[in-house]
Amino acid sequence: MYRSERADRRHFFYQLKIWIACSVFLILVGVGVLVYFLVAMEADETVYALAEIPNTYFETLTMAAIKVNNTYISYGIQEIIEEPEIPVYRIPTNTPGVYRTKIIALTFDDGPSWLTEELLDILDAYGARVTFCVIGDRVEDHSETIVRAFEAGHEIVGHSWDHRILTRLSVQNISAQITQTSEIIEQVTGEPSPPFFRAPYGHFNNRIKNAATDLGYSVLNWSIDTLDWRYRCEEHIYEHIMEYACDGAIVLLHDIHPTTILAMETVIPALINLGYELVTVSELVYYIYGELEPGVMFTGLRQ
Ligand SMILES: [Zn+2]
Repeated sequence: MYRSERADRRHFFYQLKIWIACSVFLILVGVGVLVYFLVAMEADETVYALAEIPNTYFETLTMAAIKVNNTYISYGIQEIIEEPEIPVYRIPTNTPGVYRTKIIALTFDDGPSWLTEELLDILDAYGARVTFCVIGDRVEDHSETIVRAFEAGHEIVGHSWDHRILTRLSVQNISAQITQTSEIIEQVTGEPSPPFFRAPYGHFNNRIKNAATDLGYSVLNWSIDTLDWRYRCEEHIYEHIMEYACDGAIVLLHDIHPTTILAMETVIPALINLGYELVTVSELVYYIYGELEPGVMFTGLRQ
């Protein structure tokens, strides 16, 4: 009798120890996950990495993190990735007499695509000029589209060779992404591309700055982010641009989504009706900045 009671008690304590060990383990895992999330929110690289997976749970998580950090989502990505020690153009006030009209630069990333021709038709109809930020390894397959765009007066600039996350590459590899893309643009259009490029996701760090400085390039960002890739809704694009349009703005769009192309059918005439001239980034740079300094990231004017 006594022996069996002792055995029961021993068995009870044995089970209790296992439960305690399991609970401690689960608590540690929970704390670990929490710490990881907090560190991810603080450590820029990790947050950017999450931000680059579109339409996933991770992105929602990152956007939440960005919101927690009190940064505008629409301008969020570029704000967060600016490292404080890097000089960024703070736009000078307009020089009186320099402007002919109100100007705005629409920029289309991630093409060329099968939709670019359709966009070119719309641009032709309104005499609008825009800037295409092309991915190098797509240029050859759409060389006729690129030639058509170039001959119509649009601007073709690089947006990396294969949309790699440049902040994770060495200075040499960043340089290769820039120069390879510029070379294929020059090969197809017969003219060197302008001395600036757009980095994927608008990312910027000291290695990008160093690579750009060595090559004599500046980094093109934007002042109006339509988030067209996320909403895929022509009304959203129209309303967002109409709300934030201002003289000297640079608008980020993507000519790989049908809704973006559709939106241009209303956005472009509406901007023209408001007195805007749609110009290339080089023209906008000429009127606003005069000259660009290599290695510096620039955006357009904001409201
Ligand atoms: Zn892109």
